[in-house]
Amino acid sequence: MTELADRLDAVRGGIAEAARAAGRDAAAITTIVVTKFHPASLVRELAELGVTDVGESRHQEAVVKHAELADVALTWHFIGQLQSKKARAVQQYADVIHSVDRPGLVGALAAAPSAVFLQLNLTDDPGRGGVAPADLPALAEAVAAVPTLTVLGLMAVAPLGEEPRRAFARVRAASEVLRGVIPTATHLSMGMSGDFAEAILEGATHLRIGTAITGNRPSPV
Ligand SMILES: *Cc1c(COP(=O)(O)O)cnc(C)c1O
Repeated sequence: MTELADRLDAVRGGIAEAARAAGRDAAAITTIVVTKFHPASLVRELAELGVTDVGESRHQEAVVKHAELADVALTWHFIGQLQSKKARAVQQYADVIHSVDRPGLVGALAAAPSAVFLQLNLTDDPGRGGVAPADLPALAEAVAAVPTLTVLGLMAVAPLGEEPRRAFARVRAASEVLRGVIPTATHLSMGMSGDFAEAILEGATHLRIGTAITGNRPSPV
């Protein structure tokens, strides 16, 4: 618990410092602690340390942890790739879904209300998840037509082999395209353990930070 508290403090300090360097208010930046592969007990400790937002990327695991933590007030973010057939089930526990990346998924989510990010793929590999930048306007139009879905903004993962700040600048540019279709979709979910400072400099509003806070993830069983 002390080590966890120390790492959380260190990351909070890093966020405050990066916000200062960017001339931004750290209070306007939401830190989502990514707890995938970790037990519900760790999520509970994080909540006791003041964490309000947690991120999960694996549906089955998230269902179980969310149920175990029904007594804890947390905002749950689903950040993993999402199959259309799981969409309704994820909506049951996820307050925010960060991985909407294709019109088919928009259709699958339409029956219930959700706050969503549109995930942008910054690589040339379609298997990485996310919409290709060229297809973003069409996806934005599709989701804008669905009254139950509130688009918060764009989500992205900086690719290996590209300077993160450059990658995040591409997200910031794509955000203008998105806002051309949905003016209120101003948020940016970007920045992880290794690159959150760069993300803050490029305007991140939602950081998704795992290992820098939780320590190494246990290996999947
Ligand atoms: C695991 C994960 C993170 C957190 O990664 P860390 O490097 O542990 O901070 C952030 N975003 C997504 C989409 C993830 O899957």
